[in-house]
Amino acid sequence: MTTISANLQAVLARIETAANAWGRIPGTVALLAVSKTWPASFVREAAVAGQRAFGENYAREGLDKIRELARTDLEWHFIGPLQSNKTRQVAEAFDWVHSVDRFRVAERLSEQRPRTSPPLQVCLQVNVSGEDSKSGVAPRDALALARQVAQLPRIALRGLMAIPAPTADPAGQREPFGRLRRLFEQMLDEGLALDTLSMGMSNDIEAAIAEGATLVRVGTAIFGERNRS
Ligand SMILES: *Cc1c(COP(=O)(O)O)cnc(C)c1O
Repeated sequence: MTTISANLQAVLARIETAANAWGRIPGTVALLAVSKTWPASFVREAAVAGQRAFGENYAREGLDKIRELARTDLEWHFIGPLQSNKTRQVAEAFDWVHSVDRFRVAERLSEQRPRTSPPLQVCLQVNVSGEDSKSGVAPRDALALARQVAQLPRIALRGLMAIPAPTADPAGQREPFGRLRRLFEQMLDEGLALDTLSMGMSNDIEAAIAEGATLVRVGTAIFGERNRS
């Protein structure tokens, strides 16, 4: 077994253990393997081990990997900050975008989504930790944005995503995830048909699953430490 394959099995075991511990229905927490900064060969190795969904943060890098691998059995998720001038590449090559935080970007993605592709699957990124982080819609503006984005013709609004400020303390990890879940439930009450809570990374998978994550985004625990240069 390769390291990537062994790491994948370990992460899937963590997901299953946490899902059982919190009474989650088996199979309702999906794994997104975050391959940013790693070469296409790493993605191929994870795919051999059975992984199908991959996350990328940078449009150009993601596009290069998607083209190099040229596989129709993989699902590509764009999870990084999205500038208006990069929306076309993302709308054309990716299946999902988790990081929509303003209407203008959503509108462009919808306009630029090829008619021959299924609608782009979208999550709104919410700034649940406030202050310092510049990405994400403010919680108080999220419902209005969701209503607007849900109307766009080439977009399927699926749910919410957050990247809380990192902390090692488990209770501290759960708090912002809980805020995202309550916002999600409020949107369901308002009649929005959402099914995806994208939250949890290598260090806080368990806290996110405890608070209802349906998809965890994991890079380091699968592929190793990224170069922080
Ligand atoms: C890099 C990244 C991840 C993965 O983080 P790890 O700590 O390496 O698991 C998840 N989500 C987003 C948005 C990221 O940028």
